[in-house]
Amino acid sequence: MSLPPTTVPPADEAPPRRERGRDDACPGALRLHSADDGSLARVRTPGGLLTVRQAQALARVSEELGDGGLDLTSRGNLQLRGLAATCGGELAAGLRDAGLLPSERYDRVRNIVASPLSGLDGAGYGDVTAWTRELDAALCGGAWEELSGLSGRFLFAMDDGRGDVAALSADVTLIATGDGGAVLRVGSGADGVALEVRARDVPRAAALAAVEFLARASGTRAWRVRDLPAQHAVTVDGLAARLADEGVEAARIGHERPSDAPGTPPAPGVVSGPDGRCAVSVLVPLGRVRAAQWRLLAALASRGGSGELRVTPWRGVVLPGFTADSAAAAAREVTDAGLVTEPDSPWAGVGACTGRPGCAKSLADVRAHATRAVAGTPRSPGAPPVYFSGCERRCGHPGGHWVDALATSATDYRLTVRDTREPDGVTGGGVMDVAAEQLADAVAAARGTA
Ligand code: SF4
Repeated sequence: MSLPPTTVPPADEAPPRRERGRDDACPGALRLHSADDGSLARVRTPGGLLTVRQAQALARVSEELGDGGLDLTSRGNLQLRGLAATCGGELAAGLRDAGLLPSERYDRVRNIVASPLSGLDGAGYGDVTAWTRELDAALCGGAWEELSGLSGRFLFAMDDGRGDVAALSADVTLIATGDGGAVLRVGSGADGVALEVRARDVPRAAALAAVEFLARASGTRAWRVRDLPAQHAVTVDGLAARLADEGVEAARIGHERPSDAPGTPPAPGVVSGPDGRCAVSVLVPLGRVRAAQWRLLAALASRGGSGELRVTPWRGVVLPGFTADSAAAAAREVTDAGLVTEPDSPWAGVGACTGRPGCAKSLADVRAHATRAVAGTPRSPGAPPVYFSGCERRCGHPGGHWVDALATSATDYRLTVRDTREPDGVTGGGVMDVAAEQLADAVAAARGTA
């Protein structure tokens, strides 16, 4: 069963649309956010790509400066929690040494999701990790200084053609095509505009699309493409002119536009590639991993041979480079450590925001309630995901068809079956108010798994 991709920023990230009069307080490696459990830092990992050394550095700063854990976000970034408000200098030094803070000025702009299995399983058109790294370098390189003015919420997506991260409603999306090029899309859904670009131009085209957004957003205070007033919308002609000014050839879409239908995120387990190599796809329950578990993943990535970890936008990690036997052994080690590599795990499709005690806005300890509701519940193929939220912001909720478990008090929830593709976002499944102790049965029924 595929999990519909998440479409908005993750737990403890701010609401998806700009609120009048508010500055962009999106946290970063240098700008800490004050939460009820201490300060929070968000470490950008473009494409979710990490070296073993970087992963080890994150475990170290988590234990030395934070609460000994890491949060995986729905953009494939990582968060440190429980930090002292005064640790900023030490944290920045640790991240900088590991290459996790290549630019102070552009740190919060480096929001890039990429197809996590790209180049590993034979699906899609090639490997988009090179494009991802080039775009990151372009963002940080300073060639377009105005890009430092992007909101920390602005999102780029590099999709290898399978449609997984293309469904994340990014502001700028590149979708690889069978001819070696890519479709460049600004915005999403019916309002998105798109052009075709050549492979060699993909990173620059993505950066220039963001420059065009900033030009259109001037005077509007829009943080994201979808926030632009209609009269400021990015147009195909304007985008093409922007690209042409910088020597990037772009063509009108000469074929059917790529579908907005969600693709399939990696299922937990061993993933076989056409070259005989295997990857291990790991699901991290509720996106929270302890430093010891994280060190194990880093050690396995080193042992696997690729030396790479790929954090997914679905709170998982892909470890490439194994043989079939070593992948199976690695998956067993991961499972023994309390993470998930079974495709039929009850954790598949279950998410929650930060909730209490980390978020002051939360009415309930949604993670504890989610854990109790999920324990021992089998997951049926086709069941929609469920997302537990501590307040109506619903930070990080999934897109598509999903079950909304919203805390209405410390001990009560309202379940609603939602579909973001419906005009009002709600299906005909109705609304159910339940006590927390009834959540397991009620959630199973709402997901159709009872
Ligand atoms: S309680 Fe509300 S604001 Fe806090 S993380 Fe959850 S959804 Fe977001």
